[in-house]
Amino acid sequence: MTTDCIFCKIINIDIPAKTIYEDDDVIVFNDIKPMAKIHFLIVPKLHVESLKACDDMQQALLGKMLLLTSKLAAEQGLVGYKTLINTGREAGQEVFHLHMHIFGGGEV
Ligand code: AMP
Ligand code: ZN
Repeated sequence: MTTDCIFCKIINIDIPAKTIYEDDDVIVFNDIKPMAKIHFLIVPKLHVESLKACDDMQQALLGKMLLLTSKLAAEQGLVGYKTLINTGREAGQEVFHLHMHIFGGGEV
C-alpha cells in the first residue's frame, strides 16, 4: 500500500470502483474514462510502479495477469480484445501502479 496511489486506494476500498473480479493477487475494475465499449484494468494488489520495476519475483503475477484476460474478456462478452501496458511517463503512463488495459467492443 502506498498512501498517495489511487489504485492502492481502490484496493483498500478507500475510493470506489466498478470491480468485476478480485482475488488474493489482483483486482479488476472498469476504467473511469473508457476508450472502448468495454475497457477494464487488471491491477496487481502489490504496489509495483510499472513493468520496468518488475523482476523475477513478479514472473508468476505477470503470467497470471495475462492468462486472466481471456476469462474476463469472455465474461464481458468480448470475442477479441486488445491489451495494453503503458510503461513510463514517456509512453503515456499516468498511474504509477502497474496495470494492464483490456479493450474491446469497438469505440465508445
Ligand atoms: P495509464 O495511462 O496506463 O497509466 O492509465 C491509467 C488509467 O487509469 C486511465 O485509463 C484512467 O482513466 C484510469 N483511471 C484513473 N483513475 C481511475 C479510477 N479512480 N478508477 C478507474 N480508472 C481510473
Ligand atoms: Zn499503488
